Amino acid sequence: MDLHIHSTYSDGNAEIHEIARKARERGMKVIAIADHSMDHPRGLNERKARRREVEIRTAEEKIGIRILDAVECAILENGEILLPDHDFELVIASIHSHLSVREVCRRVKLCIEKNDVHIIGHLHAGMFSVDSSISEFDLEIVDAAKESGVAIEINSYHMSPPESFLRLCSGKEILYSFGSDAHNLSMVGKIDFSIRMAKIYLRDGRNIVNEMHYSDR
Ligand SMILES: [Zn+2]
Ligand SMILES: [Zn+2]
Repeated sequence: MDLHIHSTYSDGNAEIHEIARKARERGMKVIAIADHSMDHPRGLNERKARRREVEIRTAEEKIGIRILDAVECAILENGEILLPDHDFELVIASIHSHLSVREVCRRVKLCIEKNDVHIIGHLHAGMFSVDSSISEFDLEIVDAAKESGVAIEINSYHMSPPESFLRLCSGKEILYSFGSDAHNLSMVGKIDFSIRMAKIYLRDGRNIVNEMHYSDR
């Protein structure tokens, strides 16, 4: 499964039916099209989300693969997220600004408290971090995720979270998800890093796909 793919509905350059076909070719049974939300200049609004849902359902039926109608939103300063009025099946909340680990921790915890999100995307991705992972703050994030049942994404494109963070997850029953963060067809289903990290650090964790019984639908 690959639960983090961008399409032409935000800043990806592949169409939904092309993504679905490529994912099936690569042996995926469940994927999530997680385009950016309203915080992004090319993100989803209500009209786009509605149109996209129709395309998702059509591709799902034609190509025979489960496709989740998902969204990736930024975690804002007050921990809030911006979403169009649409019933998404999966919400990924990610930090998209350059921040210290302390500030990331504060925002992620607030976001989990205030919103109904399913996954925290690419935590401490190098692109958005000003300092490396710090265990006291990381432990607070791990605990918040565990208590709330929010999944930690292992993102193969950003190669995040870093191993120092994943080490804190080992031995704990936390939820996790796999994502390629594909913005083009060749990246769809490229989740080798995610699988490798889960095998090492998340033996006691649970994959969100199995938890939410997406594969049965
Ligand atoms: Zn992102
Ligand atoms: Zn993304």
